[in-house]
Amino acid sequence: MPFSEFFPDFPMAFFPSGVPANELRDGEPVSCDLCSKQITDLCYLDNEHTYCEGCTEALVKKLTGEAVAFAQENCVVTREFPKYDPSREFRCTPEQYENGDRESYTPNAYICHCRHTRTNYDDLIAGLDRDSIEDRVYYDAIRNRVDELVRDGIDSVMETDEDEYEEEL
Ligand SMILES: [Zn+2]
Repeated sequence: MPFSEFFPDFPMAFFPSGVPANELRDGEPVSCDLCSKQITDLCYLDNEHTYCEGCTEALVKKLTGEAVAFAQENCVVTREFPKYDPSREFRCTPEQYENGDRESYTPNAYICHCRHTRTNYDDLIAGLDRDSIEDRVYYDAIRNRVDELVRDGIDSVMETDEDEYEEEL
């Protein structure tokens, strides 16, 4: 069973969306907290800071390099991967899902289970702040690296001949 199709084709790369300067402070002039120039087009928000597009691009580029290196070094597999058992595949019905009974056994549920229980993904993303450009860049780098580890881990466990499936999924 090829699992690669369940992973994104391209790694995620965060870039914040800009807010038109005239919508930000009731039309009051807004200047970039990094280069101090007045921003006339789009403003990019980073917690309590505001940056121009050029500074945001430079910042994201610098942070991406650091985040990718961090993810490469810190994302690890913590336990052996379970094997996927296609004979157990089922999907909850839309009605069950509505009622909160969201249990499914599908490749996506399996990949998600592996990400959360076989790597340190949850530990690494705990405490990341959605309003921080740095944290968003780190989140994507961690997620991309963990997905690589999960894809490789699944590939190698699915290549083994053993038919030992875990019941915990
Ligand atoms: Zn700037």
